[in-house]
Amino acid sequence: MFDRTKYLQERYRNDSKFREYFKKLVLKSEKKRRGIYRKKLQEHLGNICSKCGFSNTEILEFHHINNNGKKDRLSVTRLKYYSEHLEEAKISLIVLCPNCHSIETNPFLDMDGIVQKTRQRLFGILGRFICERCEFSDFRALQFDHIKGHGFEEKKKFKGGTKMLKYYNARPDLAKIHFTVLCSNCNRIKQRENNEFRS
Ligand SMILES: [Zn+2]
Ligand SMILES: [Zn+2]
Repeated sequence: MFDRTKYLQERYRNDSKFREYFKKLVLKSEKKRRGIYRKKLQEHLGNICSKCGFSNTEILEFHHINNNGKKDRLSVTRLKYYSEHLEEAKISLIVLCPNCHSIETNPFLDMDGIVQKTRQRLFGILGRFICERCEFSDFRALQFDHIKGHGFEEKKKFKGGTKMLKYYNARPDLAKIHFTVLCSNCNRIKQRENNEFRS
């Protein structure tokens, strides 16, 4: 008898085009499921940032109240779990906008450490310490935005953000062409507008 599962497994192993197609399909269905669970959780926990009231539901995030986000990453499975255990969700998670989330996760930055020094230098090169779109100015939630929007590829190429920042620190003219400063919220909105996603 024709074994469909086996057939698909073999095809997945041997046919690279099929593999790409299959991966895309899985991603698409994950995105859809994630959206459903997120909506359910937001309905229960609130549709606005619980710190500042920001209300763009598309980019709102869930924050672990006791900061154990590293141990309990909100994968699709975890989102599903919380959407089915709403009381537990209520004592574990709050809704935050990306800006408040960045600040909540990293309240104290080591300004003398290499990462922050590198960041500060690049802000200086760009002559900009506030978000270009909304003028948000909390350093903890400011990001360098690739004007042309290939940030994810570049981060991959440099294997991490700091290496990339160092590269551009050494090339100020190039940095000025490539980057502007956006807050986490505006950056996330821009990514959505341009359909930029991590691959
Ligand atoms: Zn907020
Ligand atoms: Zn902004």
